[in-house]
Amino acid sequence: MGEQTQGQGTAQPRRVVVVGAGMAGVRTAVALREQGYTGTVTLIGAEPHQPYDRPPLSKAVLLGKAEGSAFDVDFEGLGLELRLGCEALAVRADAHVLDTSEGPVPYDVLVLATGAEPVRVPGTEDVPGVHLLRTLDDAARLRPVLAGQHDVVVVGAGWIGAEFATAAREAGCAVTVVEAADRPLAGALPAEVAAPMAAWYADSGTELRTRARVARIEPGAVILDDGSRLPAGAVVVGIGARPATAWLAGSGVQLGDQGEVLADDRLRTSVPDVYAVGDCASFPSGRYGERLLVHHWDNALQGPRTVAADLLGLTPAVYDPVPYFWSEQFGRFVQYAGHHTGADRLLWRGEPDGPAWTVCWLREGRLVALLAVGRPRDLAQGRRLIEAGTPMDAALLADPARPLKAATA
Ligand code: FAD
Repeated sequence: MGEQTQGQGTAQPRRVVVVGAGMAGVRTAVALREQGYTGTVTLIGAEPHQPYDRPPLSKAVLLGKAEGSAFDVDFEGLGLELRLGCEALAVRADAHVLDTSEGPVPYDVLVLATGAEPVRVPGTEDVPGVHLLRTLDDAARLRPVLAGQHDVVVVGAGWIGAEFATAAREAGCAVTVVEAADRPLAGALPAEVAAPMAAWYADSGTELRTRARVARIEPGAVILDDGSRLPAGAVVVGIGARPATAWLAGSGVQLGDQGEVLADDRLRTSVPDVYAVGDCASFPSGRYGERLLVHHWDNALQGPRTVAADLLGLTPAVYDPVPYFWSEQFGRFVQYAGHHTGADRLLWRGEPDGPAWTVCWLREGRLVALLAVGRPRDLAQGRRLIEAGTPMDAALLADPARPLKAATA
Protein backbone atom coordinates (compact mmCIF):
# COMPACT_ATOMS: atom_id res chain seq x y z
CA MET A 1 0.00 0.00 0.00
CA GLY A 2 1.13 3.59 -0.58
CA GLU A 3 1.46 6.15 2.19
CA GLN A 4 -0.32 5.36 5.42
CA THR A 5 -1.37 7.35 8.44
CA GLN A 6 -2.54 6.24 11.87
CA GLY A 7 -6.24 6.71 12.59
CA GLN A 8 -8.31 5.06 15.33
CA GLY A 9 -5.52 2.56 15.89
CA THR A 10 -5.62 1.34 12.27
CA ALA A 11 -3.11 2.20 9.57
CA GLN A 12 -5.12 4.22 7.06
CA PRO A 13 -4.17 5.21 3.53
CA ARG A 14 -3.82 8.99 3.15
CA ARG A 15 -5.52 9.39 -0.22
CA VAL A 16 -8.35 7.32 -1.54
CA VAL A 17 -9.40 8.09 -5.09
CA VAL A 18 -12.73 6.74 -6.33
CA VAL A 19 -13.36 6.68 -10.10
CA GLY A 20 -17.02 6.88 -11.09
CA ALA A 21 -19.51 9.08 -9.22
CA GLY A 22 -22.54 6.81 -9.56
CA MET A 23 -24.18 4.79 -6.79
CA ALA A 24 -21.16 2.56 -6.12
CA GLY A 25 -18.64 5.41 -6.14
CA VAL A 26 -20.71 7.73 -3.96
CA ARG A 27 -21.59 4.96 -1.49
CA THR A 28 -17.90 4.03 -1.25
CA ALA A 29 -16.95 7.60 -0.40
CA VAL A 30 -19.74 7.86 2.18
CA ALA A 31 -18.95 4.42 3.67
CA LEU A 32 -15.35 5.46 4.17
CA ARG A 33 -16.46 8.36 6.33
CA GLU A 34 -19.09 6.27 8.12
CA GLN A 35 -16.41 3.76 8.99
CA GLY A 36 -14.11 6.40 10.44
CA TYR A 37 -11.75 7.21 7.60
CA THR A 38 -10.21 10.64 8.09
CA GLY A 39 -7.92 10.96 5.07
CA THR A 40 -8.57 12.54 1.68
CA VAL A 41 -11.32 11.12 -0.52
CA THR A 42 -11.48 12.29 -4.12
CA LEU A 43 -14.47 11.24 -6.19
CA ILE A 44 -13.93 11.55 -9.93
CA GLY A 45 -16.88 11.41 -12.32
CA ALA A 46 -17.04 11.83 -16.08
CA GLU A 47 -20.56 13.26 -16.06
CA PRO A 48 -20.92 17.00 -15.35
CA HIS A 49 -24.03 16.57 -13.17
CA GLN A 50 -24.24 16.40 -9.41
CA PRO A 51 -24.10 12.62 -8.69
CA TYR A 52 -27.52 11.00 -9.13
CA ASP A 53 -29.42 7.76 -8.85
CA ARG A 54 -30.34 5.82 -12.03
CA PRO A 55 -33.53 3.83 -11.26
CA PRO A 56 -35.77 6.95 -11.35
CA LEU A 57 -34.51 7.70 -14.89
CA SER A 58 -36.78 5.05 -16.41
CA LYS A 59 -39.65 5.94 -14.07
CA ALA A 60 -40.48 9.31 -12.47
CA VAL A 61 -37.76 11.35 -14.19
CA LEU A 62 -38.74 10.08 -17.63
CA LEU A 63 -42.36 10.98 -17.06
CA GLY A 64 -41.48 14.44 -15.75
CA LYS A 65 -42.86 13.56 -12.30
CA ALA A 66 -39.42 14.29 -10.81
CA GLU A 67 -36.93 16.82 -12.11
CA GLY A 68 -33.87 14.81 -11.15
CA SER A 69 -32.61 12.15 -8.80
CA ALA A 70 -29.50 13.69 -7.21
CA PHE A 71 -28.21 11.79 -4.19
CA ASP A 72 -29.02 13.40 -0.87
CA VAL A 73 -25.39 13.50 0.24
CA ASP A 74 -23.62 16.48 1.79
CA PHE A 75 -20.30 16.03 -0.02
CA GLU A 76 -18.80 19.20 1.39
CA GLY A 77 -19.92 18.48 4.94
CA LEU A 78 -18.40 14.99 4.74
CA GLY A 79 -15.17 16.39 3.35
CA LEU A 80 -15.49 14.50 0.07
CA GLU A 81 -13.78 16.18 -2.87
CA LEU A 82 -15.88 15.96 -6.02
CA ARG A 83 -14.25 16.32 -9.44
CA LEU A 84 -17.03 16.23 -11.98
CA GLY A 85 -16.72 16.36 -15.76
CA CYS A 86 -13.38 14.63 -15.30
CA GLU A 87 -12.70 11.39 -17.15
CA ALA A 88 -10.25 8.78 -15.95
CA LEU A 89 -8.04 7.74 -18.85
CA ALA A 90 -5.51 5.26 -17.45
CA VAL A 91 -4.04 3.74 -14.30
CA ARG A 92 -0.29 3.71 -13.79
CA ALA A 93 -0.27 1.12 -11.03
CA ASP A 94 3.48 1.12 -10.35
CA ALA A 95 3.46 4.88 -9.75
CA HIS A 96 0.07 4.84 -7.95
CA VAL A 97 -1.23 7.47 -10.37
CA LEU A 98 -4.56 7.83 -12.12
CA ASP A 99 -4.35 9.79 -15.38
CA THR A 100 -7.43 11.88 -16.07
CA SER A 101 -8.63 14.41 -18.62
CA GLU A 102 -7.69 17.06 -16.03
CA GLY A 103 -4.20 15.70 -15.34
CA PRO A 104 -2.59 13.05 -13.10
CA VAL A 105 -4.10 12.23 -9.70
CA PRO A 106 -1.92 10.32 -7.22
CA TYR A 107 -3.57 7.74 -4.96
CA ASP A 108 -2.70 5.39 -2.13
CA VAL A 109 -5.84 3.35 -2.73
CA LEU A 110 -7.91 3.49 -5.91
CA VAL A 111 -11.52 2.30 -6.17
CA LEU A 112 -12.90 1.54 -9.64
CA ALA A 113 -16.64 2.26 -9.82
CA THR A 114 -17.12 3.19 -13.47
CA GLY A 115 -20.35 1.22 -13.87
CA ALA A 116 -21.61 0.08 -17.24
CA GLU A 117 -22.37 1.50 -20.66
CA PRO A 118 -25.36 0.54 -22.77
CA VAL A 119 -24.75 -1.64 -25.81
CA ARG A 120 -25.63 0.09 -29.10
CA VAL A 121 -27.07 -1.34 -32.28
CA PRO A 122 -24.00 -1.21 -34.56
CA GLY A 123 -24.03 1.62 -37.06
CA THR A 124 -26.62 3.72 -35.22
CA GLU A 125 -24.29 6.13 -33.41
CA ASP A 126 -25.14 9.02 -35.69
CA VAL A 127 -28.70 8.15 -36.69
CA PRO A 128 -31.03 10.90 -35.45
CA GLY A 129 -33.87 9.79 -33.17
CA VAL A 130 -32.04 6.75 -31.75
CA HIS A 131 -31.83 6.87 -27.96
CA LEU A 132 -30.22 5.00 -25.10
CA LEU A 133 -31.40 5.17 -21.49
CA ARG A 134 -28.52 5.19 -19.04
CA THR A 135 -27.83 8.78 -18.06
CA LEU A 136 -29.67 11.88 -16.90
CA ASP A 137 -28.92 13.41 -20.30
CA ASP A 138 -30.49 10.38 -22.02
CA ALA A 139 -33.63 10.80 -19.90
CA ALA A 140 -33.73 14.53 -20.65
CA ARG A 141 -33.60 13.78 -24.40
CA LEU A 142 -36.40 11.24 -24.05
CA ARG A 143 -38.80 13.40 -22.05
CA PRO A 144 -39.95 15.41 -25.08
CA VAL A 145 -40.48 12.13 -26.97
CA LEU A 146 -42.96 11.07 -24.30
CA ALA A 147 -44.47 14.50 -23.87
CA GLY A 148 -44.97 14.72 -27.67
CA GLN A 149 -46.59 11.24 -27.70
CA HIS A 150 -44.37 10.05 -30.52
CA ASP A 151 -44.68 6.53 -31.92
CA VAL A 152 -41.80 4.66 -30.34
CA VAL A 153 -40.01 1.45 -31.27
CA VAL A 154 -38.09 -0.11 -28.40
CA VAL A 155 -35.32 -2.54 -29.30
CA GLY A 156 -34.99 -5.20 -26.58
CA ALA A 157 -37.58 -6.62 -24.18
CA GLY A 158 -35.31 -6.61 -21.13
CA TRP A 159 -35.75 -4.72 -17.85
CA ILE A 160 -35.01 -1.28 -19.34
CA GLY A 161 -37.15 -1.95 -22.44
CA ALA A 162 -40.13 -2.97 -20.29
CA GLU A 163 -39.78 0.02 -17.96
CA PHE A 164 -39.43 2.44 -20.85
CA ALA A 165 -42.45 0.91 -22.62
CA THR A 166 -44.45 1.26 -19.39
CA ALA A 167 -43.63 4.96 -19.08
CA ALA A 168 -44.20 5.62 -22.79
CA ARG A 169 -47.63 3.96 -22.71
CA GLU A 170 -48.51 5.96 -19.60
CA ALA A 171 -47.57 9.09 -21.54
CA GLY A 172 -49.85 8.04 -24.42
CA CYS A 173 -47.24 6.93 -26.98
CA ALA A 174 -47.87 4.05 -29.37
CA VAL A 175 -45.16 1.53 -28.46
CA THR A 176 -43.75 -1.45 -30.35
CA VAL A 177 -41.09 -3.58 -28.68
CA VAL A 178 -38.94 -5.75 -30.93
CA GLU A 179 -37.07 -8.63 -29.36
CA ALA A 180 -34.69 -11.02 -31.13
CA ALA A 181 -35.42 -13.90 -28.72
CA ASP A 182 -38.72 -15.77 -28.52
CA ARG A 183 -39.73 -14.03 -25.28
CA PRO A 184 -38.99 -11.08 -23.00
CA LEU A 185 -36.10 -11.38 -20.53
CA ALA A 186 -34.79 -14.46 -22.32
CA GLY A 187 -31.34 -14.06 -20.78
CA ALA A 188 -32.69 -13.86 -17.24
CA LEU A 189 -35.77 -16.07 -16.95
CA PRO A 190 -37.01 -19.42 -18.33
CA ALA A 191 -39.81 -19.53 -20.90
CA GLU A 192 -42.54 -20.58 -18.46
CA VAL A 193 -41.85 -17.56 -16.23
CA ALA A 194 -41.50 -15.12 -19.11
CA ALA A 195 -44.77 -16.28 -20.71
CA PRO A 196 -47.13 -14.43 -18.35
CA MET A 197 -44.84 -11.40 -18.53
CA ALA A 198 -45.24 -11.30 -22.33
CA ALA A 199 -48.99 -10.94 -21.78
CA TRP A 200 -48.39 -7.77 -19.73
CA TYR A 201 -47.18 -6.03 -22.88
CA ALA A 202 -50.43 -6.75 -24.72
CA ASP A 203 -52.54 -5.81 -21.68
CA SER A 204 -50.88 -2.39 -21.60
CA GLY A 205 -51.46 -1.84 -25.32
CA THR A 206 -47.79 -2.38 -26.19
CA GLU A 207 -47.10 -4.45 -29.28
CA LEU A 208 -44.41 -7.05 -28.54
CA ARG A 209 -42.76 -8.62 -31.59
CA THR A 210 -40.54 -11.54 -30.64
CA ARG A 211 -38.07 -13.32 -32.96
CA ALA A 212 -37.72 -9.91 -34.55
CA ARG A 213 -34.14 -9.07 -35.47
CA VAL A 214 -33.17 -5.52 -36.31
CA ALA A 215 -31.32 -5.32 -39.64
CA ARG A 216 -30.78 -1.57 -39.48
CA ILE A 217 -32.19 1.66 -38.14
CA GLU A 218 -32.82 4.63 -40.43
CA PRO A 219 -34.06 8.07 -39.49
CA GLY A 220 -37.76 7.47 -38.75
CA ALA A 221 -37.82 3.67 -39.14
CA VAL A 222 -36.55 0.36 -37.81
CA ILE A 223 -35.97 -2.27 -40.51
CA LEU A 224 -36.22 -5.91 -39.43
CA ASP A 225 -34.26 -8.71 -41.08
CA ASP A 226 -37.47 -10.09 -42.65
CA GLY A 227 -37.70 -6.80 -44.54
CA SER A 228 -40.54 -5.31 -42.52
CA ARG A 229 -40.31 -1.63 -41.81
CA LEU A 230 -41.55 -0.17 -38.52
CA PRO A 231 -42.11 3.60 -38.62
CA ALA A 232 -40.66 5.21 -35.50
CA GLY A 233 -40.85 8.78 -34.27
CA ALA A 234 -38.13 7.67 -31.88
CA VAL A 235 -36.17 4.48 -31.23
CA VAL A 236 -35.00 3.41 -27.80
CA VAL A 237 -32.31 0.76 -27.62
CA GLY A 238 -32.28 -1.40 -24.49
CA ILE A 239 -30.21 -4.45 -25.37
CA GLY A 240 -27.97 -4.62 -22.33
CA ALA A 241 -24.96 -2.94 -20.83
CA ARG A 242 -21.25 -3.71 -20.65
CA PRO A 243 -18.80 -2.77 -17.90
CA ALA A 244 -17.20 0.62 -18.62
CA THR A 245 -13.64 -0.61 -18.43
CA ALA A 246 -12.09 -0.06 -21.88
CA TRP A 247 -10.01 2.73 -20.34
CA LEU A 248 -8.24 0.17 -18.11
CA ALA A 249 -6.47 -1.49 -21.06
CA GLY A 250 -2.77 -1.75 -20.27
CA SER A 251 -3.28 -1.01 -16.56
CA GLY A 252 -2.62 -4.58 -15.44
CA VAL A 253 -6.11 -4.78 -13.92
CA GLN A 254 -7.41 -8.19 -14.96
CA LEU A 255 -10.68 -8.19 -16.89
CA GLY A 256 -13.14 -11.02 -17.57
CA ASP A 257 -14.96 -12.18 -20.70
CA GLN A 258 -17.51 -9.42 -20.52
CA GLY A 259 -14.94 -6.73 -19.90
CA GLU A 260 -15.68 -6.69 -16.18
CA VAL A 261 -13.01 -6.18 -13.56
CA LEU A 262 -12.28 -9.54 -11.93
CA ALA A 263 -12.45 -8.72 -8.24
CA ASP A 264 -11.85 -11.17 -5.40
CA ASP A 265 -14.16 -11.86 -2.48
CA ARG A 266 -13.09 -8.62 -0.79
CA LEU A 267 -13.52 -6.70 -4.04
CA ARG A 268 -9.77 -6.29 -4.55
CA THR A 269 -8.53 -6.36 -8.14
CA SER A 270 -5.44 -8.13 -9.48
CA VAL A 271 -3.46 -4.92 -8.91
CA PRO A 272 -2.36 -3.98 -5.37
CA ASP A 273 -4.28 -1.12 -3.72
CA VAL A 274 -6.97 -1.13 -6.41
CA TYR A 275 -10.55 -2.20 -5.63
CA ALA A 276 -13.58 -2.50 -7.93
CA VAL A 277 -17.27 -2.30 -7.07
CA GLY A 278 -20.73 -2.03 -8.63
CA ASP A 279 -21.69 -2.69 -12.25
CA CYS A 280 -18.06 -2.68 -13.46
CA ALA A 281 -16.89 -5.69 -11.44
CA SER A 282 -17.62 -9.37 -10.91
CA PHE A 283 -16.83 -11.26 -7.71
CA PRO A 284 -16.63 -14.95 -6.75
CA SER A 285 -19.79 -15.95 -4.91
CA GLY A 286 -19.09 -18.58 -2.26
CA ARG A 287 -22.83 -18.92 -1.79
CA TYR A 288 -23.52 -19.80 -5.43
CA GLY A 289 -20.18 -21.37 -6.33
CA GLU A 290 -19.64 -19.17 -9.35
CA ARG A 291 -18.48 -15.70 -10.30
CA LEU A 292 -21.31 -13.15 -10.44
CA LEU A 293 -21.54 -9.96 -12.48
CA VAL A 294 -24.52 -8.10 -11.07
CA HIS A 295 -25.90 -5.03 -12.82
CA HIS A 296 -28.35 -3.94 -10.14
CA TRP A 297 -28.70 -1.13 -7.67
CA ASP A 298 -28.48 -3.16 -4.45
CA ASN A 299 -25.07 -4.52 -5.46
CA ALA A 300 -23.84 -0.93 -5.89
CA LEU A 301 -25.21 -0.19 -2.41
CA GLN A 302 -23.80 -3.22 -0.54
CA GLY A 303 -20.39 -3.65 -2.19
CA PRO A 304 -19.03 -0.28 -1.04
CA ARG A 305 -19.31 -1.24 2.64
CA THR A 306 -17.03 -4.19 2.01
CA VAL A 307 -14.56 -2.05 0.08
CA ALA A 308 -14.46 0.62 2.80
CA ALA A 309 -14.11 -1.91 5.63
CA ASP A 310 -11.43 -3.91 3.85
CA LEU A 311 -9.32 -0.97 2.82
CA LEU A 312 -9.46 0.35 6.37
CA GLY A 313 -8.54 -3.10 7.71
CA LEU A 314 -11.64 -3.09 9.92
CA THR A 315 -13.13 -6.55 9.34
CA PRO A 316 -12.37 -9.61 7.26
CA ALA A 317 -15.21 -8.43 5.03
CA VAL A 318 -15.95 -11.17 2.52
CA TYR A 319 -18.46 -9.99 -0.08
CA ASP A 320 -21.03 -12.72 -0.62
CA PRO A 321 -24.46 -11.09 -0.94
CA VAL A 322 -27.82 -12.53 -1.92
CA PRO A 323 -28.29 -10.36 -5.04
CA TYR A 324 -31.51 -8.36 -5.17
CA PHE A 325 -33.29 -6.12 -7.63
CA TRP A 326 -36.69 -4.75 -8.44
CA SER A 327 -38.42 -3.50 -11.54
CA GLU A 328 -41.61 -1.52 -11.96
CA GLN A 329 -43.30 -2.53 -15.20
CA PHE A 330 -46.82 -2.51 -16.61
CA GLY A 331 -48.31 -1.58 -13.23
CA ARG A 332 -46.53 -4.41 -11.43
CA PHE A 333 -43.84 -4.49 -8.80
CA VAL A 334 -41.39 -7.22 -9.78
CA GLN A 335 -38.68 -8.28 -7.35
CA TYR A 336 -35.97 -10.89 -7.60
CA ALA A 337 -33.56 -12.15 -4.96
CA GLY A 338 -30.78 -14.71 -5.24
CA HIS A 339 -29.35 -16.42 -8.29
CA HIS A 340 -30.57 -19.48 -10.17
CA THR A 341 -29.46 -21.69 -13.02
CA GLY A 342 -31.42 -23.89 -15.43
CA ALA A 343 -30.58 -26.91 -13.26
CA ASP A 344 -32.46 -25.60 -10.21
CA ARG A 345 -35.99 -26.85 -9.45
CA LEU A 346 -38.68 -24.30 -10.27
CA LEU A 347 -41.88 -24.02 -8.19
CA TRP A 348 -44.87 -21.70 -8.63
CA ARG A 349 -46.73 -20.01 -5.77
CA GLY A 350 -49.92 -18.70 -7.30
CA GLU A 351 -51.35 -18.63 -10.81
CA PRO A 352 -49.16 -17.18 -13.58
CA ASP A 353 -52.11 -15.33 -15.12
CA GLY A 354 -53.14 -13.87 -11.75
CA PRO A 355 -52.24 -10.39 -10.52
CA ALA A 356 -49.67 -11.64 -8.00
CA TRP A 357 -47.46 -14.72 -7.99
CA THR A 358 -44.05 -15.94 -6.96
CA VAL A 359 -41.65 -18.37 -8.56
CA CYS A 360 -39.11 -20.12 -6.35
CA TRP A 361 -35.94 -21.96 -7.35
CA LEU A 362 -34.70 -24.77 -5.11
CA ARG A 363 -31.31 -26.45 -5.07
CA GLU A 364 -30.87 -29.51 -2.86
CA GLY A 365 -34.05 -28.57 -1.00
CA ARG A 366 -32.93 -25.04 -0.24
CA LEU A 367 -34.22 -21.83 -1.72
CA VAL A 368 -31.59 -20.22 -3.98
CA ALA A 369 -33.71 -17.57 -5.73
CA LEU A 370 -37.21 -16.21 -6.07
CA LEU A 371 -39.11 -13.85 -8.34
CA ALA A 372 -42.06 -12.16 -6.71
CA VAL A 373 -44.68 -10.24 -8.67
CA GLY A 374 -46.79 -8.08 -6.37
CA ARG A 375 -45.83 -10.22 -3.36
CA PRO A 376 -43.25 -8.17 -1.44
CA ARG A 377 -43.73 -10.25 1.70
CA ASP A 378 -42.63 -13.38 -0.18
CA LEU A 379 -39.60 -11.47 -1.35
CA ALA A 380 -38.63 -10.23 2.12
CA GLN A 381 -39.09 -13.65 3.73
CA GLY A 382 -37.51 -15.49 0.81
CA ARG A 383 -34.44 -13.30 0.86
CA ARG A 384 -33.87 -14.18 4.53
CA LEU A 385 -34.43 -17.90 3.85
CA ILE A 386 -31.88 -17.80 1.03
CA GLU A 387 -29.45 -15.97 3.25
CA ALA A 388 -29.85 -18.58 5.99
CA GLY A 389 -29.86 -21.59 3.61
CA THR A 390 -32.93 -23.01 5.37
CA PRO A 391 -34.21 -26.40 4.06
CA MET A 392 -37.69 -25.97 2.54
CA ASP A 393 -40.72 -28.22 2.11
CA ALA A 394 -41.61 -28.05 -1.60
CA ALA A 395 -45.29 -28.95 -1.09
CA LEU A 396 -45.80 -26.25 1.53
CA LEU A 397 -43.85 -23.77 -0.56
CA ALA A 398 -46.23 -24.20 -3.49
CA ASP A 399 -49.18 -23.03 -1.36
CA PRO A 400 -49.43 -19.24 -1.90
CA ALA A 401 -51.74 -18.88 1.11
CA ARG A 402 -49.00 -20.07 3.44
CA PRO A 403 -46.31 -17.55 4.42
CA LEU A 404 -43.02 -18.52 2.85
CA LYS A 405 -41.33 -18.58 6.25
CA ALA A 406 -43.84 -21.26 7.32
CA ALA A 407 -42.84 -23.52 4.41
CA THR A 408 -39.61 -24.76 5.96
CA ALA A 409 -38.89 -28.48 6.14
P1 FAD B 1 -23.16 3.68 -12.69
O1 FAD B 1 -24.45 4.07 -12.08
O2 FAD B 1 -23.12 3.37 -14.14
O3 FAD B 1 -22.12 4.84 -12.39
C1 FAD B 1 -20.83 4.85 -12.95
C2 FAD B 1 -20.38 6.27 -13.16
O4 FAD B 1 -19.01 6.23 -13.57
C3 FAD B 1 -21.14 6.98 -14.30
O5 FAD B 1 -21.61 8.21 -13.85
C4 FAD B 1 -20.09 7.15 -15.39
O6 FAD B 1 -20.25 8.35 -16.13
C5 FAD B 1 -18.80 7.19 -14.59
N1 FAD B 1 -17.64 6.79 -15.38
C6 FAD B 1 -17.57 5.79 -16.29
N2 FAD B 1 -16.33 5.75 -16.83
C7 FAD B 1 -15.64 6.75 -16.26
C8 FAD B 1 -14.30 7.22 -16.42
N3 FAD B 1 -13.42 6.62 -17.24
N4 FAD B 1 -13.91 8.29 -15.68
C9 FAD B 1 -14.77 8.88 -14.81
N5 FAD B 1 -16.04 8.48 -14.63
C10 FAD B 1 -16.47 7.42 -15.35
N6 FAD B 1 -31.44 -1.51 -10.71
C11 FAD B 1 -32.38 -2.05 -9.89
O7 FAD B 1 -32.06 -2.90 -9.06
N7 FAD B 1 -33.70 -1.66 -9.99
C12 FAD B 1 -34.12 -0.74 -10.91
O8 FAD B 1 -35.31 -0.43 -10.97
C13 FAD B 1 -33.17 -0.17 -11.78
N8 FAD B 1 -33.54 0.75 -12.69
C14 FAD B 1 -32.61 1.26 -13.55
C15 FAD B 1 -33.01 2.17 -14.51
C16 FAD B 1 -32.09 2.71 -15.41
C17 FAD B 1 -32.54 3.68 -16.46
C18 FAD B 1 -30.73 2.28 -15.35
C19 FAD B 1 -29.72 2.82 -16.32
C20 FAD B 1 -30.32 1.38 -14.39
C21 FAD B 1 -31.25 0.86 -13.46
N9 FAD B 1 -30.86 -0.05 -12.48
C22 FAD B 1 -31.81 -0.59 -11.64
C23 FAD B 1 -29.45 -0.47 -12.35
C24 FAD B 1 -28.69 0.41 -11.35
O9 FAD B 1 -29.01 1.75 -11.53
C25 FAD B 1 -27.20 0.18 -11.52
O10 FAD B 1 -26.93 -1.15 -11.16
C26 FAD B 1 -26.37 1.14 -10.70
O11 FAD B 1 -26.54 2.45 -11.16
C27 FAD B 1 -24.89 0.77 -10.76
O12 FAD B 1 -24.16 1.75 -10.11
P2 FAD B 1 -22.61 1.97 -10.44
O13 FAD B 1 -22.18 3.10 -9.57
O14 FAD B 1 -21.88 0.69 -10.38
O15 FAD B 1 -22.56 2.40 -11.97
